[in-house]
Amino acid sequence: MLVSTPTHCPYCGLQCAMTITHETAASTAPAIPGGTVTVTGRSFPTNRGGLCQKGWTSAELLRNPDRLIAPLVRRGGRLRPTTWEHALGVVADGVESVRAEHGPDAVAVFGGGGLTNEKAYQLGKFARVALGTSNVDYNGRFCMSSAAAAAGRAFGLDRGLPFPVRDLTAACAILLLGGNVAETMPPFLGHLQAAADAGGLIVADPRRTATVERALSGGGIHLQLRPGTDLPLALGLLHIAVTDGRIDRDYIADRTEGFEDAWLAAAQWWPERTERVTGVSVTQLRRTVEILWRARQSDTGAYILTARGAEQHASGTDAVSAVINLALALGLPGRRGSGYGPITGQGNGQGGREHGQKADQLPGYRKITDPAARAHVARVWGVDPESLPGPGRSAYELLDALGTPDGPRALMVHGANVAVSAPRAGHVVERLAALDLLVVSDFLLSETAAMADVVLPVLQWAEEEGTITSLEGRVLRRRRAVPAPTGPRSELDVLADLAGRLGQPVGRFRTDPQAVFEELRAASAGGPADYSGISYPRLDSGEDVHWPCPAGPDAGVRHPGTPRLFLDRFATDNGRARFVAVEHGGPAESVDAAFPLVATTGRVLAHYQSGAQTRRIDELSTAAGPMFVQVHPDTATRMGVVDGQPAAVRSRRGRTLATVRCDEGMRLDTVFLPFHFAGDERANLLTNPALDPTSRMPEFKACAVTLEPAVSA
Ligand code: SF4
Repeated sequence: MLVSTPTHCPYCGLQCAMTITHETAASTAPAIPGGTVTVTGRSFPTNRGGLCQKGWTSAELLRNPDRLIAPLVRRGGRLRPTTWEHALGVVADGVESVRAEHGPDAVAVFGGGGLTNEKAYQLGKFARVALGTSNVDYNGRFCMSSAAAAAGRAFGLDRGLPFPVRDLTAACAILLLGGNVAETMPPFLGHLQAAADAGGLIVADPRRTATVERALSGGGIHLQLRPGTDLPLALGLLHIAVTDGRIDRDYIADRTEGFEDAWLAAAQWWPERTERVTGVSVTQLRRTVEILWRARQSDTGAYILTARGAEQHASGTDAVSAVINLALALGLPGRRGSGYGPITGQGNGQGGREHGQKADQLPGYRKITDPAARAHVARVWGVDPESLPGPGRSAYELLDALGTPDGPRALMVHGANVAVSAPRAGHVVERLAALDLLVVSDFLLSETAAMADVVLPVLQWAEEEGTITSLEGRVLRRRRAVPAPTGPRSELDVLADLAGRLGQPVGRFRTDPQAVFEELRAASAGGPADYSGISYPRLDSGEDVHWPCPAGPDAGVRHPGTPRLFLDRFATDNGRARFVAVEHGGPAESVDAAFPLVATTGRVLAHYQSGAQTRRIDELSTAAGPMFVQVHPDTATRMGVVDGQPAAVRSRRGRTLATVRCDEGMRLDTVFLPFHFAGDERANLLTNPALDPTSRMPEFKACAVTLEPAVSA
């Protein structure tokens, strides 16, 4: 029998639509239900029927031979299969023991940007109500936090793209800073086609990436900046826009505030100085401003987008603010046919940060320090607002404190693989090893799960119901498309079970995804990310709903959702967008004789995030090839390493092994490493955990390294 189910990809924030067809077989495997599962692209505004290699092969996750089926508990130094009763008993006893000895904050929770909205919501509630801990944060802190913080302070609200992706499709001018969408989310590139064909696609990236190639093929521009100089690049562009009269003075007067201070900061970034610091020529800087301004004036579509290359810095929030300042000066945000937005990376990177698994937030994107927000959420949860803990440690600070005298002694990880994905990963592994109790919920034995005391096997993407929120704030249904295997349980079920064992009343933690969503709606009502008017039936009927979508005073009136934000006013108190004056401080560490190169990290086409899933899919693993370090041929010669041969890359924090890949599209002072590989090949053994003071984002995108030949294993 053939069963076809419409759903969305398990991987990135574009959330391409797909149909999963399951053909049941006469005979079934003992634990994982048998039958073939095929994936086809489905027509949808973000992917228009297209999928990338990761999406096409995603069904292999459902039949992966490494799939975890039974809970595992460490005994005699080894993880051994056991029953759920025993595994959850070990977790509950361990948590109780740590809490009794060290207090509630000694138990920490680390979530993920791939969890459904329901799980992200439940996890934050579980941490604060069942555990009573303030120490809950998630891996989105390493992904979108700088963009979110900068959007919050400029516009009063962060929703990723404040306009639908399809608005980009007709634009003639798009400046993309720090994103390689041709590899990270290929169907997105189709939306940049018109700009590329018009010579209006401008890409700021230290590397000559596939996205850069597309821009250049249409006559666009590659701003090949030094890593860590996005901020002065944006200041220099603003300088030119102002001095060349390429700014919208009426818009600035009517819709913004703070321009004068932002201009004073940018005034110091005259073109020649900007060229000297960023490595981008004055000619290219002027052409960039001219292209954006011409498109803006002629109303042919002008957009500025940022991604992790500009954001993952110890000054990432200020870098994004500098970019937003430029967008505001050109008059782009809050208008049809123009705008600024960040491109979310993780599958539910957007919803994952709205529902309460962040250290400083409650559901609905509410501030945890706001008494009214605490009272509202406590009412929905049926608890005393005074019992809710305050803000906790941010992601890296939480990991850094594990097992220390004042830090958490037990950690529960859901949907994250921090042993690979956290900065200074060698140190993070040491901290994980110092815990009294490490519990990991996952469907594969990730590198973090392999270190755990207890591993809880959970259902994955196409085996359960839920919702996610895409990079454009559109709420989507993920649907069960195949039968769940025998053994793994839903994380909602696991958290509810654990909550009961920890003394919570029956029914406080629901297990049905739709019931959890109903509670999430109530918790978000009236907050910045208001989902109260969104329901499973609305989504199932195919409605296109972007938040905010309040229920409204009359339950019979349907709010249509908000595809485009800020058209009338920004979400600040006075409705004006705020310029923010920012200064350039440079990367947190400098190159010197011992570490003469700058390493930057990123993704490749065939892998996703820590690679825990995609490394297990043969087709993807073969396509991606081995771990590599990309370097200019002249730099390779200077450092004594050879194309195709093994090399060691060293920073002040660690050493990574990689195959040398020479590429003339690299800057002479820069090397690139993908961060999907494990063991000695982890790029994050090198990266710098220096944190942005506002977003607490680590500096993934610039650290000083050296390169030397290594002996093959
Ligand atoms: Fe999945 Fe992203 Fe590829 Fe689309 S672009 S198929 S969402 S990984």
